[in-house]
Amino acid sequence: MKCTAIILAAGQGKRMNSSVQKQFLVLQGKPLLYYSLECFQKSEEIDDIILVTGKECIDFCKKEIIELYGFTKVSAVVSGGKERYDSVYAGLCACKNTDYVFIHDGARPFVTEEILKRTKEEVLKFQACVVGMPSKDTVKIADENGMVEETPKRSRVWSIQTPQAFSYDLIKKAHECARAHCMDEITDDAMVIEAYTQVPVRLVQGSYENIKITTPDDLLVAEKNLEKNL
Ligand code: C5P
Repeated sequence: MKCTAIILAAGQGKRMNSSVQKQFLVLQGKPLLYYSLECFQKSEEIDDIILVTGKECIDFCKKEIIELYGFTKVSAVVSGGKERYDSVYAGLCACKNTDYVFIHDGARPFVTEEILKRTKEEVLKFQACVVGMPSKDTVKIADENGMVEETPKRSRVWSIQTPQAFSYDLIKKAHECARAHCMDEITDDAMVIEAYTQVPVRLVQGSYENIKITTPDDLLVAEKNLEKNL
Protein backbone atom coordinates (compact mmCIF):
# COMPACT_ATOMS: atom_id res chain seq x y z
CA MET A 1 0.00 0.00 0.00
CA LYS A 2 1.50 3.31 -1.10
CA CYS A 3 0.98 6.69 0.61
CA THR A 4 1.94 9.92 -1.13
CA ALA A 5 2.18 13.34 0.48
CA ILE A 6 1.22 16.35 -1.63
CA ILE A 7 2.83 19.41 -0.10
CA LEU A 8 1.43 22.72 -1.26
CA ALA A 9 3.74 25.69 -1.65
CA ALA A 10 2.36 27.57 -4.62
CA GLY A 11 0.50 30.31 -2.77
CA GLN A 12 1.39 33.97 -3.10
CA GLY A 13 1.10 34.63 0.63
CA LYS A 14 -0.31 38.13 0.09
CA ARG A 15 -1.38 38.45 3.75
CA MET A 16 2.28 38.22 4.80
CA ASN A 17 3.14 41.59 3.18
CA SER A 18 6.58 40.31 2.26
CA SER A 19 8.56 40.39 -0.99
CA VAL A 20 9.70 36.80 -0.31
CA GLN A 21 6.92 34.19 -0.68
CA LYS A 22 6.01 33.00 2.80
CA GLN A 23 7.00 29.35 2.24
CA PHE A 24 10.57 30.52 1.65
CA LEU A 25 10.86 32.95 4.58
CA VAL A 26 13.71 31.91 6.84
CA LEU A 27 12.88 30.56 10.32
CA GLN A 28 15.75 29.46 12.57
CA GLY A 29 18.06 29.45 9.54
CA LYS A 30 15.85 27.28 7.32
CA PRO A 31 13.03 28.06 4.88
CA LEU A 32 9.54 27.62 6.32
CA LEU A 33 8.83 24.87 3.78
CA TYR A 34 11.76 22.82 5.13
CA TYR A 35 9.91 21.95 8.34
CA SER A 36 6.90 20.21 6.84
CA LEU A 37 9.07 18.45 4.24
CA GLU A 38 11.32 17.19 7.04
CA CYS A 39 8.37 15.65 8.91
CA PHE A 40 7.07 13.82 5.83
CA GLN A 41 10.60 12.77 4.79
CA LYS A 42 11.22 11.14 8.17
CA SER A 43 7.78 9.61 8.53
CA GLU A 44 7.35 5.83 8.37
CA GLU A 45 3.85 6.40 7.02
CA ILE A 46 4.87 8.17 3.80
CA ASP A 47 6.42 6.60 0.69
CA ASP A 48 6.90 9.60 -1.54
CA ILE A 49 6.28 13.33 -1.71
CA ILE A 50 4.99 15.56 -4.52
CA LEU A 51 5.93 19.19 -4.00
CA VAL A 52 3.68 21.77 -5.65
CA THR A 53 5.15 25.23 -6.06
CA GLY A 54 5.11 28.24 -8.39
CA LYS A 55 6.51 27.60 -11.87
CA GLU A 56 9.29 30.12 -11.25
CA CYS A 57 10.24 28.45 -7.95
CA ILE A 58 10.73 24.87 -9.19
CA ASP A 59 14.50 25.16 -9.78
CA PHE A 60 15.00 26.97 -6.47
CA CYS A 61 13.09 24.26 -4.60
CA LYS A 62 15.04 21.47 -6.29
CA LYS A 63 18.48 22.99 -5.62
CA GLU A 64 18.09 25.01 -2.45
CA ILE A 65 15.68 22.80 -0.53
CA ILE A 66 15.41 19.24 -1.84
CA GLU A 67 19.07 18.67 -2.78
CA LEU A 68 20.48 20.81 0.01
CA TYR A 69 18.57 19.04 2.80
CA GLY A 70 18.50 15.59 1.20
CA PHE A 71 14.74 15.17 0.84
CA THR A 72 15.07 11.93 -1.10
CA LYS A 73 11.37 11.05 -0.93
CA VAL A 74 10.42 13.94 -3.23
CA SER A 75 9.51 12.19 -6.47
CA ALA A 76 8.25 15.23 -8.39
CA VAL A 77 8.14 19.01 -8.17
CA VAL A 78 5.24 20.41 -10.18
CA SER A 79 3.82 23.84 -10.77
CA GLY A 80 0.63 24.79 -8.98
CA GLY A 81 -2.32 26.86 -10.13
CA LYS A 82 -4.20 30.05 -9.39
CA GLU A 83 -6.21 28.71 -6.46
CA ARG A 84 -5.29 26.19 -3.78
CA TYR A 85 -7.61 23.59 -5.34
CA ASP A 86 -5.83 24.02 -8.71
CA SER A 87 -2.53 23.29 -6.96
CA VAL A 88 -4.03 20.23 -5.25
CA TYR A 89 -5.28 18.96 -8.59
CA ALA A 90 -1.81 19.43 -10.14
CA GLY A 91 -0.40 17.37 -7.27
CA LEU A 92 -3.03 14.67 -7.72
CA CYS A 93 -2.23 14.43 -11.44
CA ALA A 94 1.48 13.96 -10.64
CA CYS A 95 0.89 10.95 -8.34
CA LYS A 96 2.05 7.60 -9.68
CA ASN A 97 0.18 4.40 -8.70
CA THR A 98 -0.63 5.54 -5.22
CA ASP A 99 -3.35 4.33 -2.86
CA TYR A 100 -3.66 7.18 -0.35
CA VAL A 101 -2.74 10.87 -0.45
CA PHE A 102 -1.94 13.18 2.46
CA ILE A 103 -2.53 16.77 1.31
CA HIS A 104 -0.64 19.25 3.45
CA ASP A 105 -0.11 23.03 3.49
CA GLY A 106 3.61 23.76 3.20
CA ALA A 107 2.87 26.75 5.43
CA ARG A 108 2.15 24.45 8.45
CA PRO A 109 5.59 23.66 9.85
CA PHE A 110 4.42 22.00 13.09
CA VAL A 111 2.86 18.81 11.74
CA THR A 112 4.24 15.81 13.66
CA GLU A 113 4.78 12.08 13.22
CA GLU A 114 2.03 11.40 15.80
CA ILE A 115 -0.44 13.39 13.69
CA LEU A 116 0.61 11.46 10.57
CA LYS A 117 0.21 8.12 12.40
CA ARG A 118 -3.28 9.01 13.66
CA THR A 119 -4.26 10.21 10.20
CA LYS A 120 -3.00 7.03 8.54
CA GLU A 121 -4.93 4.81 10.95
CA GLU A 122 -8.14 6.71 10.28
CA VAL A 123 -7.81 7.01 6.51
CA LEU A 124 -7.37 3.25 6.24
CA LYS A 125 -10.70 2.84 8.05
CA PHE A 126 -12.70 5.77 6.66
CA GLN A 127 -11.15 6.65 3.23
CA ALA A 128 -11.47 10.39 3.96
CA CYS A 129 -10.25 12.27 6.99
CA VAL A 130 -9.18 15.75 8.05
CA VAL A 131 -7.01 16.86 10.90
CA GLY A 132 -8.37 19.57 13.17
CA MET A 133 -8.96 20.64 16.75
CA PRO A 134 -12.11 21.43 18.73
CA SER A 135 -12.69 25.18 18.65
CA LYS A 136 -11.66 27.02 21.82
CA ASP A 137 -13.76 30.02 20.82
CA THR A 138 -17.49 30.26 20.37
CA VAL A 139 -18.15 30.56 16.64
CA LYS A 140 -20.91 32.71 15.11
CA ILE A 141 -22.29 32.40 11.60
CA ALA A 142 -22.82 35.89 10.19
CA ASP A 143 -25.38 37.02 7.65
CA GLU A 144 -24.40 39.23 4.72
CA ASN A 145 -25.04 42.37 6.79
CA GLY A 146 -22.58 41.43 9.51
CA MET A 147 -25.33 40.37 11.94
CA VAL A 148 -25.31 37.11 13.88
CA GLU A 149 -27.42 34.52 12.15
CA GLU A 150 -26.59 31.45 14.18
CA THR A 151 -24.39 30.12 17.00
CA PRO A 152 -23.43 26.48 16.50
CA LYS A 153 -22.87 24.41 19.67
CA ARG A 154 -19.22 24.91 20.55
CA SER A 155 -18.72 21.26 21.42
CA ARG A 156 -19.48 20.41 17.79
CA VAL A 157 -17.23 23.02 16.16
CA TRP A 158 -13.74 22.10 14.94
CA SER A 159 -11.07 24.26 13.34
CA ILE A 160 -9.65 22.40 10.40
CA GLN A 161 -5.96 21.98 9.69
CA THR A 162 -3.94 19.79 7.36
CA PRO A 163 -2.97 17.09 6.52
CA GLN A 164 -6.18 15.86 4.99
CA ALA A 165 -5.92 12.28 3.80
CA PHE A 166 -7.98 10.36 1.29
CA SER A 167 -8.12 7.27 -0.81
CA TYR A 168 -6.51 8.46 -4.05
CA ASP A 169 -9.28 7.42 -6.45
CA LEU A 170 -11.95 9.01 -4.24
CA ILE A 171 -10.31 12.44 -3.98
CA LYS A 172 -9.19 12.54 -7.62
CA LYS A 173 -12.75 11.82 -8.86
CA ALA A 174 -14.25 14.33 -6.38
CA HIS A 175 -11.87 17.07 -7.56
CA GLU A 176 -12.74 16.24 -11.18
CA CYS A 177 -16.46 16.61 -10.39
CA ALA A 178 -15.81 19.94 -8.64
CA ARG A 179 -13.86 21.18 -11.66
CA ALA A 180 -16.60 20.07 -14.06
CA HIS A 181 -19.19 21.92 -11.95
CA CYS A 182 -17.04 25.06 -11.61
CA MET A 183 -17.30 24.78 -7.84
CA ASP A 184 -15.44 27.73 -6.35
CA GLU A 185 -14.64 28.80 -2.81
CA ILE A 186 -13.11 25.41 -2.11
CA THR A 187 -10.97 26.14 0.94
CA ASP A 188 -10.17 22.57 1.87
CA ASP A 189 -10.24 19.15 0.25
CA ALA A 190 -12.87 17.59 2.45
CA MET A 191 -15.37 20.05 0.92
CA VAL A 192 -15.18 18.28 -2.44
CA ILE A 193 -15.77 14.92 -0.76
CA GLU A 194 -18.76 16.37 1.13
CA ALA A 195 -20.20 17.90 -2.05
CA TYR A 196 -19.60 15.13 -4.59
CA THR A 197 -19.50 11.82 -2.73
CA GLN A 198 -21.53 9.96 -0.11
CA VAL A 199 -18.42 9.16 1.92
CA PRO A 200 -18.49 10.62 5.45
CA VAL A 201 -15.34 12.51 6.43
CA ARG A 202 -13.65 11.52 9.71
CA LEU A 203 -12.23 14.20 12.02
CA VAL A 204 -8.78 13.39 13.42
CA GLN A 205 -7.14 15.22 16.30
CA GLY A 206 -4.25 17.44 15.20
CA SER A 207 -2.67 19.87 17.64
CA TYR A 208 -3.16 23.49 18.66
CA GLU A 209 0.47 24.07 17.58
CA ASN A 210 -0.21 22.92 14.02
CA ILE A 211 -0.87 26.48 12.87
CA LYS A 212 -0.77 27.85 9.34
CA ILE A 213 1.68 30.69 8.91
CA THR A 214 -0.41 33.40 7.28
CA THR A 215 0.44 36.81 8.76
CA PRO A 216 3.60 38.35 10.32
CA ASP A 217 2.16 37.61 13.81
CA ASP A 218 2.13 33.89 13.00
CA LEU A 219 5.84 34.09 12.15
CA LEU A 220 6.60 35.37 15.65
CA VAL A 221 4.63 32.48 17.17
CA ALA A 222 6.46 30.04 14.91
CA GLU A 223 9.88 31.42 15.94
CA LYS A 224 8.91 30.93 19.60
CA ASN A 225 7.69 27.36 19.01
CA LEU A 226 10.86 26.44 17.15
CA GLU A 227 13.06 27.88 19.92
CA LYS A 228 11.07 25.86 22.46
CA ASN A 229 11.55 22.65 20.46
CA LEU A 230 15.31 23.10 19.93
O1 C5P B 1 -3.80 30.60 0.90
P1 C5P B 1 -3.77 29.59 2.01
O2 C5P B 1 -3.09 30.13 3.24
O3 C5P B 1 -5.06 28.92 2.29
O4 C5P B 1 -2.79 28.46 1.48
C1 C5P B 1 -2.64 27.24 2.13
C2 C5P B 1 -1.52 26.48 1.44
O5 C5P B 1 -1.85 26.25 0.08
C3 C5P B 1 -0.16 27.20 1.45
O6 C5P B 1 0.85 26.27 1.79
C4 C5P B 1 -0.04 27.73 0.04
O7 C5P B 1 1.29 27.81 -0.43
C5 C5P B 1 -0.82 26.70 -0.76
N1 C5P B 1 -1.41 27.25 -2.01
C6 C5P B 1 -1.03 26.70 -3.22
N2 C5P B 1 -1.55 27.22 -4.39
C7 C5P B 1 -2.39 28.26 -4.36
C8 C5P B 1 -2.79 28.82 -3.12
C9 C5P B 1 -2.28 28.29 -1.95
O8 C5P B 1 -0.22 25.75 -3.26
N3 C5P B 1 -2.85 28.76 -5.52
